[in-house]
Amino acid sequence: MPPDAPAAGEAAPIVSCRGVVKRYRMGAIEAPALNGVDLDIAAGDFATLAGPSGSGKTTLLNMIGGLDHPTAGEVIVDGVRLGGLDKDALTDLRLRKIGFVFQAYNLIPVLSAVENVEFVLQLQGVDAAERRRRAVAALKDVGLEGFENRRPAYMSGGQQQRVAVARALVAKPAIVLADEPTANLDSKTAEDLVALMARLNHEAGVTFLIGTHDARVIARTRRHIEMTDGRITADERRAAAFA
Ligand code: ADP
Ligand code: MG
Repeated sequence: MPPDAPAAGEAAPIVSCRGVVKRYRMGAIEAPALNGVDLDIAAGDFATLAGPSGSGKTTLLNMIGGLDHPTAGEVIVDGVRLGGLDKDALTDLRLRKIGFVFQAYNLIPVLSAVENVEFVLQLQGVDAAERRRRAVAALKDVGLEGFENRRPAYMSGGQQQRVAVARALVAKPAIVLADEPTANLDSKTAEDLVALMARLNHEAGVTFLIGTHDARVIARTRRHIEMTDGRITADERRAAAFA
């Protein structure tokens, strides 16, 4: 049995980071962003990755999401070592296993809400009728029934971020990675978005890792991971804080 195999009865983590180091090369100097990160995320986790600006949250989320490669160490997602994949296999894994939510929503402006959500399924080769059915259901799950044909420009920030959450969920990923998802939202809208993510975690078992320094988000999650200078400096579990 390999040394890292889970004990009997214990589920394998969805994400494992082992000694992850990232240094950005800037001309002749290398700036360290991650200094050896070991982290496991379990299925069903509702976790914040917190820490001050520059502590490495975005860099770590990018490594886990396969958007960038570590300088050293390993990232394993759902049993697959990302470093062992070629470009196409990595793209495929990203599409099937990982949902992304970004600060700036990143919706395609010329597509309607339902088309933005469907797009992910189109890339996966899901047929048109099935795509539409699943995208409409995902929009309903985030409270956007009736907004299917709106384009992003005709939706509020909170609504656009809900479309982004629906898009992240529609392919039933192993984990949703959200990077500062509330940064552009007012207080009430930010709280509603966190409540939505908490509900999706609680009712549908969606695993979330949320990079944030927003206290409103941190207060609602069940696991709190803290980064300082590219290292994990705290990792605490606590009871769900349902309102
Ligand atoms: P956070 O998301 O916690 O604010 P980041 O992961 O963005 O932190 O940044 C971690 C460190 O890496 C910072 O010192 C930042 O300046 C540096 N960094 C991030 N991205 C790059 C990049 N593309 N090139 C050079 N340095 C970078
Ligand atoms: Mg960041």
